[in-house]
Amino acid sequence: MRSSVSLLLICLLPNLAGAWHSQGHVLATELAVEASQDIMPAFFAQGIETIKHCSVDPDVFKFKTDSRLLSRKESPNHYFDLELFDDEALPETREDFWWWCLRHGQSTGKVGLLPYAIAETTYMLSLALAEHHRWPDNQAIQSKCLVYAGLLSHYAEDACMPLHATVHWDGRVLPNGQSPHTGIHRRVDGLLHRVPGADQVTVDPNSLVPFQSLLAEVFAHIQETHSLVEPLYALEDQIPALDEPFEGPPELVALVEGYLHRSARFTARLYVTALKKSALVTIPDWHEREEH
Ligand SMILES: [Zn+2]
Repeated sequence: MRSSVSLLLICLLPNLAGAWHSQGHVLATELAVEASQDIMPAFFAQGIETIKHCSVDPDVFKFKTDSRLLSRKESPNHYFDLELFDDEALPETREDFWWWCLRHGQSTGKVGLLPYAIAETTYMLSLALAEHHRWPDNQAIQSKCLVYAGLLSHYAEDACMPLHATVHWDGRVLPNGQSPHTGIHRRVDGLLHRVPGADQVTVDPNSLVPFQSLLAEVFAHIQETHSLVEPLYALEDQIPALDEPFEGPPELVALVEGYLHRSARFTARLYVTALKKSALVTIPDWHEREEH
């Protein structure tokens, strides 16, 4: 009896993790892998399905389980509310930023940790690629490169969604600092993979310049994303609901096409950055892997 009641309740709950969100990440990741395929090692594009699959996983890490242990750790990796950070440059590490928050009466959970998630995951991919250079036939190393690339894709694409870079992340913030939860966030999340003209969006491989100063440039990118918040709110009334077709207006279509292009290009630039940095990695003498 209890299980049938639970099932009924589950059926009545809104679908908080609908495929729409996943499909947007999958589409942007596909464009990013295609754009970088002549720069990255051959196994990378051959493993595109694994990269696309794993590009959704950081959202899976936030699913409800019997404990909040993982979801509480993971959630701040997906946003950075710029209005709450008034310094010019980000502290160099997560821990330094934690201290910054403490000094300024903030918390990492409130402000977010997205730039650190992007930079750290880029280095994870870079180290895995360095191992690939040393053991090119090792299948496990290739597999983990694809997994790390998928995780990196997710964070990179979140950094191109304007509502992940603002305190106005689900409607204009209330005077008490809380979100009014107007539902705009879900509506915008649902636009990326439905945008008319998505099949026309391509990324020029020649534009995939590696980042030099990774964390600073990731932060600059999030600042640029923040500048897209107001143009989005200007069209708030015209953003379709999830069960409505997305056919216009042209201004909104152009905005979302821009999000898709920025998402794919930024993600691909991070792949290329990881590859460039992988050549600088020194593998310690004691570290050994299998040849295959
Ligand atoms: Zn996310």
